[in-house]
Amino acid sequence: MKNHAAQRLIADMQARSNSSGSLLTEALGASSQHLRQFNRERTLNCVRLQGPLPRVTIAQRIGLSRATVSNIIDELLAEGFVHEGDMLSAAPGGGRRPIQVHFNANAGCILGVDIGRTHLTFVAADLSGHILAHQSMPFITTQGPDICIQQLANRLRDFINANDISWDRIIGLSCGSPGTLDGNKRVFVSPPHMPGWNGVDIRGTLEEEFKLPVLLDNDANLGALGESRYGAGRTQKDFIYVKIGTGIGSGIIVNGQIYRGNGGFAGELGHITTGEDGPLCECGNRGCLESLAGADAIIHDACEGISLTRLQSELPDKQVSSIATKPLADMSDVIQAAREGDPACCAALAVAGHRIGMAVSVLINLFNPSAVILDGGVTHAGDILTAPLIASAAASSLPASWNHTRILMGELHEMAIALGAITAMIDEAFGQAKMFGDTIPQLPEVDIYKYTNAVPGDLVPPSG
Ligand SMILES: [Zn+2]
Repeated sequence: MKNHAAQRLIADMQARSNSSGSLLTEALGASSQHLRQFNRERTLNCVRLQGPLPRVTIAQRIGLSRATVSNIIDELLAEGFVHEGDMLSAAPGGGRRPIQVHFNANAGCILGVDIGRTHLTFVAADLSGHILAHQSMPFITTQGPDICIQQLANRLRDFINANDISWDRIIGLSCGSPGTLDGNKRVFVSPPHMPGWNGVDIRGTLEEEFKLPVLLDNDANLGALGESRYGAGRTQKDFIYVKIGTGIGSGIIVNGQIYRGNGGFAGELGHITTGEDGPLCECGNRGCLESLAGADAIIHDACEGISLTRLQSELPDKQVSSIATKPLADMSDVIQAAREGDPACCAALAVAGHRIGMAVSVLINLFNPSAVILDGGVTHAGDILTAPLIASAAASSLPASWNHTRILMGELHEMAIALGAITAMIDEAFGQAKMFGDTIPQLPEVDIYKYTNAVPGDLVPPSG
């Protein structure tokens, strides 16, 4: 038997992506069909976000007649989106106690995929964002798109089958990936460190492969969205998520939603020019923040030494030796050596922190966010990176803005992007999530230690 709820959500998403305006503007237009769909979404979202509730209360909250709401609820019951359960303990005005309408989160299932440069993470979640299954594995994007996309599809099928997820419950696949995507979020545009991926339509290929709606977004945008609903941004309406790894990216959250800019390219913090005579960046410019403070730059600085004059001008109080005392293969070696006190590694991380802090002060002055959330592999260095970052951000921000901005660490670690992908699909499937005043819908608490390598100490906010 077909799963009616999942089919309906897929049809709604397809209708929404084909429609020219928002459902609200069309409803104001208003064909009776659009108006019915508009009222249906409001009813379903009211039960989903505020339920369980009796029919009479739903009608009061969304300002529709009791009869209209009852018709819609009957339809939602038949499709499996809601079920009626317990009664209220007392009737509000005496009399019969009303039956409550509950949202059925099991009516559908969402797949979130984090496509990293060196890993793949899959998460399956129900329609309320509860995690049903999770798996991470190595993934080498430098093998090129032909091999990688087929591998991704095969492993995702294995994941779905191994976890007994019924295919007709799946409403869509939501993916995050590094690198720049085109404005329609379909095609890679010269992604750094991913040779052969320029122009690849990963979204179209996966839609064809799975015959399901597919969403694709930049990893920093989805990390920001994940933190906003599941993690450190749960209480912040306007914040900026900064991901510091091989690349440096940011996701800007305004009123609980991703701010994308005109062409969809907002948030490219790593390509702010911080030194015109700096090294050549993958984007073709010189002196981008990423080329001076990303993981590769930090490893380079630790191995080759930073010129003392340059360092003194940026961090006058630091004493440095010229190069690291041990061989350094990757960022975790640099962090380990810095923790053991290697002066060159400490200095390389401190200089990077200082440079990133200057860029963060630009964000603070421009956006006046309530928080900046730091995440990404380089942040595992802890205070060695974050103390100079916070010091330079504080020194370069306008005091009025700085005093209203908190610097927080991300809470979701390796799960941030996959959970952001789940969030994006929930928003897409139900539309109108913002109908209910200024409340941003929050998703369930996640026991992050169950799914990641994080240790409790990682969640301590940076000092300063
Ligand atoms: Zn650049």
